[in-house]
Amino acid sequence: MRHDVVVIGAGLIGTTTAWYLAERGLNVTVVERRESPGLETSFANGGLLTPSEADPWNAPGTLGRMLHWLGREDSPLLLRPQALPGMLGWGLKFLRASRPTPHLRSTLATLRLALYSLSSLNELGEQLALSYDRLSNGTLKIFRDPIALKHSLELADNLRHSGLESRGLNPREAVALEPLLENVSNQLVGAIYYPGDGSGDAHRFTRELQAHALAAGVKFHFNTPVSRITTQGRRVQALLTEEGEIRADHYVLAAGSYSPQLARPLQLQLPIYPVKGYSVTVTPTIDHGLHVPLVDFEQKIVITPLGKHLRIAGTAEFNGYDSTLNPSRTENILRQATAIFPWLSDSRKSGEVTHWTGLRPMTCDGPPILGASPYPNLFFNTGHGPLGWTLGAGSARCVADMVAGLEPAIDMAAYSLNRFIHS
Ligand SMILES: Cc1cc2nc3c(=O)[nH]c(=O)nc-3n(C[C@H](O)[C@H](O)[C@H](O)COP(=O)(O)OP(=O)(O)OC[C@H]3O[C@@H](n4cnc5c(N)ncnc54)[C@H](O)[C@@H]3O)c2cc1C
Repeated sequence: MRHDVVVIGAGLIGTTTAWYLAERGLNVTVVERRESPGLETSFANGGLLTPSEADPWNAPGTLGRMLHWLGREDSPLLLRPQALPGMLGWGLKFLRASRPTPHLRSTLATLRLALYSLSSLNELGEQLALSYDRLSNGTLKIFRDPIALKHSLELADNLRHSGLESRGLNPREAVALEPLLENVSNQLVGAIYYPGDGSGDAHRFTRELQAHALAAGVKFHFNTPVSRITTQGRRVQALLTEEGEIRADHYVLAAGSYSPQLARPLQLQLPIYPVKGYSVTVTPTIDHGLHVPLVDFEQKIVITPLGKHLRIAGTAEFNGYDSTLNPSRTENILRQATAIFPWLSDSRKSGEVTHWTGLRPMTCDGPPILGASPYPNLFFNTGHGPLGWTLGAGSARCVADMVAGLEPAIDMAAYSLNRFIHS
């Protein structure tokens, strides 16, 4: 059977793309190597929907910080020396994009997409009555270092003109907003509240949306790894799988951190590196009582209420496609969270605790890679790095518009693969 569009990957990005494509009247099939949707990076992420985190990780001064942390097991960012040769090309581009002008350009492009994405996600949630522990309580970023607070307040001020709401708070005001911070209030120099942010469970969302997509006629081929994309001239011809060829008029590559491997034989270099992160989900035996998700700026961890669970996520490890779970890294983020909420040490003993690790598909300059490729029937929706949950609905809606021949609501130039050719 011939399909209008085949989407490779049923993470939150591929699944959401499939939904929007079907909504535009296309006959859609999703090909996924795992047994169900959202089992890889979309499985247990930090759960934050944060336009406030639009500034990419390579802020000016990144090189110094990375060298300072080189090889240190307890650092929020861990660069394994053995990973260096494999990430040289990507790393140089990452550093080049950390100059003030390109960094600001990437921040603004990411913010634009994030704001559009949150409004798209809200519409989708209402339209389908999705239930995924969604909160719209904003996020609270806490600071112990006055210089970091000053820089973040300046950035928040600059981004206000571009639609990001924020409010600087002193420690007393931060505790008034989230009383659970009482214990650390004397360590804080201040906080920033972002009322437009939100949170929710990305995996639950993906599963729920997949069920709606299925009901709307989208076909899902699970347990079906794509081994290769074949071409004829300048067009994609088919996907090769163990079950044979799958052919379509159009193809969308949404394979997260594994997109570069599938694109490489087509002579397409996607500058995406798999940056490993960790999360711990704690289910305390008592009500955790956290209302506003927290971002601990210096420790680089987030603590997010997801229903009765608390999701603690963080750390960035540059070590190629190694996805083994290193207990010392999860122990580290748990220790930092326990320093904020001492009662977590009891919850760890009596409640349920689940550890997880995932690979963030991170582009060298921050924004994802969306839309057209040099092959007229191949489109990208990949490279969302640490912000895929935030950027997912907007990216999927725009890419579905492009495949369907419609004009996306926002200008897509800043997310195109071409930006790396012209930079
Ligand atoms: C620790 C951590 C915390 C995070 N916290 C947040 C957060 O708080 N907020 C936020 O916005 N984002 C967060 N993120 C980022 C977000 O989770 C990712 O950007 C997002 O999940 C990427 O989704 P995806 O669909 O592109 O990738 P994935 O979920 O990995 O989906 C890709 C899919 O493609 C499939 N696939 C790959 N290769 C093939 C193949 N050859 N054939 C068939 N199928 C294939 C995979 O099996 C997978 O299901 C976090 C990430 C991590 C690791």
